[in-house]
Amino acid sequence: MDMTRIRDHMVEHQLTRRGIDDRSVIEAMRTVPREKFVAPGFEDFAYEDAPLSIGDGQTISQPFIVALMLEKAGLKAGDKALEVGTGSGYASALMSRIVRQVYSIERHERLALQARDRFGTLGYHNIEVRVGDGSKGWPDAAPFDAIVVSAAAPEVPSALKEQLNLGGRLIIPVGRGQEQRLKRVTRTGPAAFEEDDLGGVVFVPLIGEDAWTAAHPMYTATVPSPGTFAAGPGSQPRVQGAGMETTNRLPALPEGVLDHTEFQQRFWALQRLSWIMFTLLLAICLLGLLGRGGPFSRQTLMLSDGSVDFPVISRWNTPEDMTVNFLASSEDRVFTIDAAFLRTFSVQGIDPPQKATFARDGRIGYVFPADPAEPTQIVFRLQTQQPGARRATIGLGEEVRTQFTFIFP
Ligand code: SAM
Repeated sequence: MDMTRIRDHMVEHQLTRRGIDDRSVIEAMRTVPREKFVAPGFEDFAYEDAPLSIGDGQTISQPFIVALMLEKAGLKAGDKALEVGTGSGYASALMSRIVRQVYSIERHERLALQARDRFGTLGYHNIEVRVGDGSKGWPDAAPFDAIVVSAAAPEVPSALKEQLNLGGRLIIPVGRGQEQRLKRVTRTGPAAFEEDDLGGVVFVPLIGEDAWTAAHPMYTATVPSPGTFAAGPGSQPRVQGAGMETTNRLPALPEGVLDHTEFQQRFWALQRLSWIMFTLLLAICLLGLLGRGGPFSRQTLMLSDGSVDFPVISRWNTPEDMTVNFLASSEDRVFTIDAAFLRTFSVQGIDPPQKATFARDGRIGYVFPADPAEPTQIVFRLQTQQPGARRATIGLGEEVRTQFTFIFP
């Protein structure tokens, strides 16, 4: 696969057409191999217009939202920048292609270490990664010219504002509901900040001392309504009135776990339905094969005086036939069963009936008259007794065999 072409296609279709025009961001998006930041097996989906799972319940952000955040952060070549929520490392990698130095903090150790390895492999040596709570920022490395927070906070954490350089920009999703607002906080003076609303987004929660607690229920993402993508990201929010909901002509930006395109959602729903149908069909086939009346529900035992065909799979309290075939013989024939057989089946009738019955050595014997001319077939009309796996013995003459029957409750 020609990844350069796929990346160029992604930039053209997912970014520039939606209004991303910062040259340094576009250049970085053309350069950083997103396929190296997704979980193994997901490489083919790396340039989809969607966030992807990276394990630990986290996601690598949708390319467009990363590009938008970086563009709005106004990154410049000499900047020192902080990313809170390293995740896969993709956004930090992009930032590192634009600015002088990136600091990246992630609360999941596995993700942080994995990202650090990726940076090493790709030769991105201007990124420092730390495991920790990014809601408190990275005081030792502050102040920063730009801070990008890739998870949603209930409020703008004050520590992050304090760690901004004068003129520094903080990009952060903020909100207490399922959808949040993407905010840009600019430090305009030692204690002065300006805030811009950049649009609606859906992010995984920022978990930390100055954010949500770890018990925060995972956000479920909403799919933006088709119309919301029409406006470019440069538009300003439209306030409809005091006390009323604020609407915005900016695109609602998908992020997080469930926010996939409508097509994907439909595809997955169809896929799930197909699996359910397939499983049901399989279960029906198996029941047909293995169940009562199926090809494996009976067994024929071959003995020297003849054969016995009996049920091995049945249902509780159900009539069953057992067929005893005697070879032609000039002597009376004897069929025997044990007490266990009678716990499995009750004998309701014998066709044709036996000549005599006897009990000996814990067995019941049925005697049938001799017929030297031809074989004789006897049908025992049975009724299943107790459910479960049952074991009993049957015999023709002196020969005895053990047989098993499974009776479904
Ligand atoms: N920017 C990432 C990328 O490009 O792959 C995606 C980030 S993912 C949407 C959000 C990340 O924020 C998760 O990896 C999560 O573990 C992390 N996170 C949440 N709360 C955090 C905190 N207080 N400090 C650091 N990382 C945090």
